[in-house]
Amino acid sequence: MLPSNKTIGIIGGGQLGKMLIEAGKPWNIKYAILENENAPASAISDIHIHGELNDATKIFELAKISDVLTYEIEHINISALHELEAAGKTIIPSPKILEIIQDKGLQKLFFKHHNIPTTDFELAENPTEWAEKLLKLKGSKVAAKLRKGGYDGKGVELITKQNVLDAYNQIPFSEPVVLEEFVENAVELAVIVARNEKGEICTFPTVEMEFDPKANLVEFLFSPAEIDSKIEEKARQIAMECIFKMQGIGIFAVEMFLDKDNNIFVNEIAPRPHNSGHHTIEACYTSQYEQLNRILLGMPLGNTDLIKPSAMINLLGFEGINGAYEITGLEQILNIKGVYIHLYNKTETKFKRKMGHITILGENMDDIRLKVTEIRKHLGMKQL
Ligand code: ADP
Repeated sequence: MLPSNKTIGIIGGGQLGKMLIEAGKPWNIKYAILENENAPASAISDIHIHGELNDATKIFELAKISDVLTYEIEHINISALHELEAAGKTIIPSPKILEIIQDKGLQKLFFKHHNIPTTDFELAENPTEWAEKLLKLKGSKVAAKLRKGGYDGKGVELITKQNVLDAYNQIPFSEPVVLEEFVENAVELAVIVARNEKGEICTFPTVEMEFDPKANLVEFLFSPAEIDSKIEEKARQIAMECIFKMQGIGIFAVEMFLDKDNNIFVNEIAPRPHNSGHHTIEACYTSQYEQLNRILLGMPLGNTDLIKPSAMINLLGFEGINGAYEITGLEQILNIKGVYIHLYNKTETKFKRKMGHITILGENMDDIRLKVTEIRKHLGMKQL
């Protein structure tokens, strides 16, 4: 029987939390969220605890009223989670995993230690160490990443090694960083992995991402990825290996780079539903959100096959529009077959803020690309 009397506690109340709750509504599951303001998940959660995600007291308060705890954002109070887990609370994924993922340096060391393919890297504590470390890396470009606190491309700078070696003031970060070899012309792939308490594991079909090069944000993604089926299988195997080696329980997005010689490098892992899995709501038999609900409730994993080829466009805040806004063109977009609009209920916009997304189902990738072009033509934003 479905445990409809259970309460799931979510640390964070953003769009990922909102979609997790939406996926659990047909099963009458109760949700409690911890979030400091009125956020996307506020209106549909059953209980809203107002507070900071780093406030241990508030996390304990949420834990008290929840049968199981999860989180939809990485930057939360890890010691509070450790304390709760030690006291017997079920937290999915485990805080031990979150602790590794919160620090890009520890994450890279984990990959290296477990022979997971990843780009070569060096750790630098402060700018005085940069020159020596940069010289150890191959290639002319390097991805410099803050070890802690970055998200959505913030905290990542793609730099030319020589520029930094020539001019000390070109160093973009003073805090501890990971310096890693740059994968030229990388195809960016993501595989979402689901693993439950029984150790059952499965993946969602590989997704290919197209990034906005300026903002480092996903602009458009599609699934199945347009790659050879052997590479797709390899990507899925590597992704599962990561989660197996972490002994992870939950939903994990494994982001990877594919280079021109078909080498795969794991970039990073998100221990939660991910932007690269939004399309699974309509495109797969079981969405990433339903899958997480199943895992949180101790239910069997659902089938993750694609029902149809699909794409997803992030609906991002337009340049020059701040605060109150209106998204325009949605009426025309709704005339297109196989298009699903998701709005995150955010009252204020700013440039590149994630305001919603659109999923597109089609017969094949050509059909989908035509629809994407049509959507882009109509999509607009107005300042109110
Ligand atoms: P975030 O955690 O903020 O999403 P990422 O590590 O995913 O940061 O980096 C953001 C983007 O920067 C990637 O999606 C990719 O486009 C680019 N990037 C990061 N590292 C590399 C690398 N080693 N080689 C090539 N591109 C990279």
